[in-house]
Amino acid sequence: MNALATKIARWIETQGPISIAQYMNLCQFDAEAGSYTSRQTIGRDFVTSPEVSQTFGEMLGLWVAQTWHDQGRPAHPRLVELGPGRGTLMADALRAIAAAAPEFLDIAEIVMVEASPALMTVQRDKLKLIGADIAWHERFDDALADRPLYLLANEFFDCLPVQQYVRTPRGWCERMVGLKDGELSFALNPEPVPNGDTLLPLTRTGATVGCVYEVAPSALVMAEEIARVIASQGGGAAIIDYGYDGPGFGETLQAVANGKPAGLLSEPGEADLSAHVDFPALASAASRAGVAVYGATSQCNFLADLGIGERAERLIKSNPKDAREIAIAVDRLVNPAEMGALFKVLCMVPQGAKQPPGFGYG
Ligand code: SAH
Repeated sequence: MNALATKIARWIETQGPISIAQYMNLCQFDAEAGSYTSRQTIGRDFVTSPEVSQTFGEMLGLWVAQTWHDQGRPAHPRLVELGPGRGTLMADALRAIAAAAPEFLDIAEIVMVEASPALMTVQRDKLKLIGADIAWHERFDDALADRPLYLLANEFFDCLPVQQYVRTPRGWCERMVGLKDGELSFALNPEPVPNGDTLLPLTRTGATVGCVYEVAPSALVMAEEIARVIASQGGGAAIIDYGYDGPGFGETLQAVANGKPAGLLSEPGEADLSAHVDFPALASAASRAGVAVYGATSQCNFLADLGIGERAERLIKSNPKDAREIAIAVDRLVNPAEMGALFKVLCMVPQGAKQPPGFGYG
């Protein structure tokens, strides 16, 4: 057992089993050993789209500029990125916005929402080269609710904590992390959750014994908060992640270390923990808060509609010796056999606003 496993085991000994959501949070953000607080997990355990090609962040920058323009260029816009990782997406997006709509940058406030102090430092270092005036917040909260909001989030929602419930003859029981022979181990809470049959939507579609229902409550709350700001102040959100766009069923929580699947409990903090994003659930949380929701569409359709093909051609023309490398990287983003189909994009704009780019624009 590593040091974080020992710490979690001691905690469970004193206060009993913990939820999977609590476990994920400790693995990601434990001050000494969390995967986001202590390790260079992005680029090592997994590679994200902005790290694959600069065209990804550029397309999202264009998305922001066009959406702002289509809404009559509201004053005091705020550009927010959730979970900016190494800061690459924002750096590329700002460059594209500076070319397409420099006046946006003259009046926009730029905010990075990042919970990991170590990644905040990486982002500051990267973005100070660009010279933009940027603020950092640890969470998305009411401080970001008073202006038109243009929000980007790539591979952010997949790392928000999930809870799992298993259908038993007694009802829905939460899957917990407990101890067995001194080792971390999954165990069902023997008591079913009260009102599980009405609260957990899967029962409506006839879940049988053994079915797992996975839900990310903080993701749903956050989608609703973002939507509320966009509905009342204007703006738009583009949420990109891997996930499913049909009704959710089964468990998707996974651990990845050095690009390979790892045990969920074997080495906490040493692997990246994430779960597929339930896009229909995010979409209904956002709709409830009063925005128009587009998608989820596939990353390949979204990027193609924004003109990634043309951008790649221009980039190749100005860097002919990198032609092959650029083409391979862009293909990785849009090819359905790579990131083009598994990754999806969900957008929100105020009701009545023009359809955002990325969904058959024109
Ligand atoms: N968007 C980046 C990084 C994805 S990794 C990219 O595409 O490369 C997830 C990022 O979200 C990390 O920066 C992580 O520290 C941050 N993060 C995870 N949970 C968070 C939370 N609850 N609040 C704020 N940031 C969070």
